[in-house]
Amino acid sequence: MTQENTNQTAGPERLDFIRQIVADDCKTGKWDGRVLTRFPPEPNGYLHIGHAKSICLNFGIAAEFGGRCNLRFDDTNPCKEEQEYVDSIIHDVRWLGWEFGEKTLFGSDYFEQMYLWAVDLIQKGKAYVCDLTAEETRQYRGTLTQPGKDSPFRNRSVEENLDLFSRMRAGEFGDGTRTLKAKIDMAHPNINMRDPVMYRILHAAHHRTGDDWCIYPMYDWAHGLEDSIEGITHSICTLEFENHRPLYDWFLDALGIYHPQQIEFARLNLTYTVMSKRKLLRLVQDKFVRGWDDPRMPTLGGLRRRGYSPEAIRSFCKIISVNKFNSTVDFALLEHCLREDLNRTSPRVMAVLRPLKVVLTNYPDDQVEWMEAVNNPEDPAAGTRNVPFSKVLYIEQDDFMEEPPKKFFRLAPGREVRLRYAYFIRCDEVIKDADGNIVELRCTYDPATRGGDAPDGRKVKATLHWVADAHALDAEVRLYDHLFTKEDPEAVEEGKDFTDHLNTDSLQTLTGCKIEPSLKDTAPLDRCQFERMGYFCTDPDSTANKLVFNRTATLKDTWAKIQKKEKSS
Ligand code: ATP
Ligand code: MG
Repeated sequence: MTQENTNQTAGPERLDFIRQIVADDCKTGKWDGRVLTRFPPEPNGYLHIGHAKSICLNFGIAAEFGGRCNLRFDDTNPCKEEQEYVDSIIHDVRWLGWEFGEKTLFGSDYFEQMYLWAVDLIQKGKAYVCDLTAEETRQYRGTLTQPGKDSPFRNRSVEENLDLFSRMRAGEFGDGTRTLKAKIDMAHPNINMRDPVMYRILHAAHHRTGDDWCIYPMYDWAHGLEDSIEGITHSICTLEFENHRPLYDWFLDALGIYHPQQIEFARLNLTYTVMSKRKLLRLVQDKFVRGWDDPRMPTLGGLRRRGYSPEAIRSFCKIISVNKFNSTVDFALLEHCLREDLNRTSPRVMAVLRPLKVVLTNYPDDQVEWMEAVNNPEDPAAGTRNVPFSKVLYIEQDDFMEEPPKKFFRLAPGREVRLRYAYFIRCDEVIKDADGNIVELRCTYDPATRGGDAPDGRKVKATLHWVADAHALDAEVRLYDHLFTKEDPEAVEEGKDFTDHLNTDSLQTLTGCKIEPSLKDTAPLDRCQFERMGYFCTDPDSTANKLVFNRTATLKDTWAKIQKKEKSS
């Protein structure tokens, strides 16, 4: 999807409150009809599904209203930022399907202009150099119920401030010895307005500006300036910045420069996962997962490797919409959107994950027949393929029971079932090893039932998937479950940490799985449905000699079930 007008909101759908503001502004000509949004990640980690909400909102609005959206790195903190993150973020935004032109923007490109504006505020008597330590600054700030105290350095002369600030920049002072603060109001009811720090001294190399700077702007100071420089119209951010909006406005008004409108919305929270970059980093560093793109991670890289499609994620973001109240979205809704997309688009193949050998005693030893199989019943254009059928086959261990309970309709001794696209087979004999484990079934097939029903009209109650030993591919299959056992792993619990709720069974690796030969040339991230077993994708670890698949999702749509229940009650 590019930024042309896709008009996703046409029709009876109601606009969310942000789109309503944008629509009204376009009508009144507030920004001369311009719409320019931005997505401003800090390059200190990988993007996750929460960021996708913000990306789809900002890029989506730009596309729908004929505007543009900037990808801008908010890289004002040299310590935690790296080029690796910049590259991955660009890749992820493009993968989600959004275009931002040739140029990515960086907050650090504006450092010189920010510095000049800081000098301007000093000259206007609205900023001062303060020698309080970080700890003293905290004490002077007061609390929610108590006003703060003026810093003893608050009334330095403009000349002294200009001199000290230029010497801060020149590197004369040590880290943390001085700050530049805005002179607002130490008794302000909003703590963010109590002379907030604008610059701190930090002798640290920056991933783009190197050693050019030893003073770095604070987020609140930098962010509005970045928006202003770019001519952003709607600066959309998450709710925790609502209390910072007065400061955003104060800086831009004090400077008298172009002033975008900040609008806040509730961030996305999902059940059974954590979203803070700090916690995700911890999962990676402490090796609870294999990396940022571990298929269990809520990062876009993890979801991609798991087999999520960008379409599914965009559709999820559209459905959850935006509002002003913090809430937690059920992971099952994300999976529901995923299944809706994969059901439409995934080619079907047959794979047996836990094989049980079946020998057809009445089938010719060396015969191989090629059976026509439908690639995607949801998409006639996907056509058909041929799968081999032979005397030795595999079915799922779960599809056979020696002593079936009442509701088990699949294969059992003496019982007949259909093998999909092939024949009816009947189980005649169960072969066990010395320990009593079932290792093989001896069955007979009915040649008259090829690809259809029995001519005599007899019925079977189950159709099983299977893979013929002839031409079968061996594979490793990785099954995933939620990373956490608790819906809200971040809920604070006495003496516990979110890692205490990690699901120790979140990864199960199956080897010796049997796959039909049509997947011989599968490439990393190819998606398919293993009939009856779920949606899968080829893992990047997969090679021609060793195929590896990830289970993206099972077929069971718990969300659709919940909805059905709610409707009927
Ligand atoms: P941190 O975890 O360090 O607080 P962050 O998740 O806010 O960082 P940023 O790089 O600052 O990461 O985020 C870029 C943009 O994505 C911001 O505008 C932020 O509001 C938005 N964003 C981050 N997390 C979510 C979320 N869970 N839901 C919606 N938007 C989010
Ligand atoms: Mg942030």
